[in-house]
Amino acid sequence: MKPFDVDLFVIGGGSGGVRAARIAAGYGASVMIAEEYRMGGTCVIRGCVPKKLYVYASRFADDFADAKGFGWTLPGKPTFDWPTLVAAKEREISRLSQIYRNNLLNAGVQVVETRAEILDANTLRLVSDGRTIRAGKILVATGGTPVLEPSVPGVELAISSNELFDLPVFPNRLLVIGGGYIAVEFASLFARLGSKVTLAFRGENVLRGFDDDLRDGLRTELQHAGVEILPGTLPKRIEKRADGLVVTLTGDETRTFDQVMLATGRRPHTLGLGLENAGVECDHAGAVKVDAYSRTNVASIYAVGDVTNRVNLTPVAIREGHAFADTEFGGKETAVVHAGIPTAVFTTPEIGTVGLSEQEARKIFDIVDVYAASFRPMIATLSGRPEKTIMKIVVDGQTDQVLGVHILGYGAGEMAQLLGISVKLGATKADFDATMAVHPTAAEELVTMRTRSARYVRETLDAGPGAAIG
Ligand code: NDP
Repeated sequence: MKPFDVDLFVIGGGSGGVRAARIAAGYGASVMIAEEYRMGGTCVIRGCVPKKLYVYASRFADDFADAKGFGWTLPGKPTFDWPTLVAAKEREISRLSQIYRNNLLNAGVQVVETRAEILDANTLRLVSDGRTIRAGKILVATGGTPVLEPSVPGVELAISSNELFDLPVFPNRLLVIGGGYIAVEFASLFARLGSKVTLAFRGENVLRGFDDDLRDGLRTELQHAGVEILPGTLPKRIEKRADGLVVTLTGDETRTFDQVMLATGRRPHTLGLGLENAGVECDHAGAVKVDAYSRTNVASIYAVGDVTNRVNLTPVAIREGHAFADTEFGGKETAVVHAGIPTAVFTTPEIGTVGLSEQEARKIFDIVDVYAASFRPMIATLSGRPEKTIMKIVVDGQTDQVLGVHILGYGAGEMAQLLGISVKLGATKADFDATMAVHPTAAEELVTMRTRSARYVRETLDAGPGAAIG
């Protein structure tokens, strides 16, 4: 008799779980995956994919405005229909969700549409029919869920990005709370679709942790798009009145909005999973504690993706899921390295970044050289749009190795992907300089920045001749 019903049981049909299930099945493991909602997880259903579709929709606003400078006359004022976009998005994510499902089935994975709870280190209960399943290994890949600050009276009237995607009525007046990825992306795109957007956050500036020059540049671009920025501001109370949601903000000013979206972070989705039944350790934020191989403290239980709160990005979850399957079922021990991960923020213009910011580099390295450029993108020269592209290269002044590259501008996300390879390979500034430019592009600036903008020398070091420009 087989000791287990399946070799692997995956809880959660998002990017990490699906990848792990498919790869493990490919190695010959018997695999069952449980998903209680729609196959695809946050990224496909209510994250990256629908967000990017909405970003594309929003950018037509700039294209229509730019067209005039290039000789075009539009027949009338372009109008935007929100229900059309929502329906088109829904069709696309349904298609993708079905592809995820089919790929699992084609790989021989058993798919169960239910919530699953852990009963002990090798046993799960399927909530839909009460069945118990015995699994050799369990992979927790349940992702994260938006945090809604419960102490603000009326917070239940606010929504998260999950609901904003599918609002039946377009929000003409939108308050976005938070200054992270989700907040700035939604502020940028809804402003372009026609909302009057107010962006309020507790800090001094948007996108804490990103390079300061990009943060300042993005803030200016958001303002150009008509977003009102309120730093150091949070809601104190939200009330529903006849004309909308009346929000009392820090300083006791009240404003009325059609919708209030909270984007104040996400927490690991571990509640009610039964992790405690098996003795799985979580950290103070509720994230499952794992090592570089995604192993928990319980030998048969593993976790990947946002539920582990390492680097909460889709490609990272996919890599973790793949590495887990390689290690546990493919005989290829693979740890995931969480350093030097390129990332993009899909505002308009967008941010693409890899490696250390200038501020981080200066904390670690004795001599840091910065090469920076700020210029008007070519498309804006004829349209007259006051947009600025910012590019920065951060270099170890002692070895010439490129530590980080940061871009705010058209196609920055695409550039970050390729720059990620150079930085991973340990490219030096001299390697960048030796690379021929592609002309005319914005990216050519990255290989033509000859003059150092600043050099930062740690005070304890003798700066030497020519140093301490910055
Ligand atoms: P982030 O962690 O990026 O930002 C959270 C924001 O909320 C910050 O401005 C933070 O302020 C603020 N905040 C946190 N707690 C509180 C609080 N108690 N009261 C008031 N403000 C608070 O989270 P997001 O929700 O924007 O995104 C979640 C994750 O999803 C990100 O970490 C990212 O990895 C991922 N994501 C990635 C995208 C991409 O790759 N393009 C797009 C969208 C999401 P402070 O800075 O002061 O802490």
